[in-house]
Amino acid sequence: MPQPGGTSLSRPEGAVGPLVGIVPAGGSGERLGAQRPKAFVVLGGRPMLEWSLEVLTRACERVVVAVPAGEIDDVPDRVVGGVSRSESVRNAVATAPEASAFVVHDAARPLLTPELVERCVAALGDGVDAAIAAAPVTDTIKQAEPSGRVVGTLDRGQLWAVQTPQVFRADSLRHALRADAATLAAATDDASLVEAAGGSVQVVESRVENFKVTTALDLRMAEAVLAERC
Ligand code: C5P
Repeated sequence: MPQPGGTSLSRPEGAVGPLVGIVPAGGSGERLGAQRPKAFVVLGGRPMLEWSLEVLTRACERVVVAVPAGEIDDVPDRVVGGVSRSESVRNAVATAPEASAFVVHDAARPLLTPELVERCVAALGDGVDAAIAAAPVTDTIKQAEPSGRVVGTLDRGQLWAVQTPQVFRADSLRHALRADAATLAAATDDASLVEAAGGSVQVVESRVENFKVTTALDLRMAEAVLAERC
């Protein structure tokens, strides 16, 4: 596993403490159907987690990884994950009281680039609590009842498919994570918790290529993109 190192990024405006990376890797990845938790499935010859870790260790002073209980000894700076993704993030955040900003990035998005991390950190300007990677929606999105009957078509010109990295002012994320367990369990990203707490969230345009590996097909597509990059 790569070791945490120094950062080549400048601090977000007004930030005095270190930039700390958080990698939620505590999920079981049942939808992938592998024998191991998803973050430790081999992709391009190494555990999936290592691709993200390599990029974040160059961008952040320290990177904390939330791993499933009992999993993997060779992750240098790790914490046991929670029952939900947000609880895993909260466990990792609690180990870094020194942070002035957090870069949260899912282990399940191995195609992260240093350039995207850099743009998200740079977007954490005055009055912005969170800057999040997101791709413009290209499909038409409809809202439907449980029966399948369509009740409306949303204006896709205003819609974004949200990804990670998500970069936060440390105090804003700590405050947002003080939600109860049910709220944490229902949150599919950390920025939604910051929004619920009244914080300001900014999207940073990203590419669909930074997709999340969920299924066996995603894993094959990620292999293909990595092979093209090498
Ligand atoms: O399940 P999903 O793909 O949405 O998970 C997104 C990320 O959150 C993955 O990297 C997964 O390992 C992580 N996760 C976690 N703790 C959980 C559930 C998911 O760190 N309890």
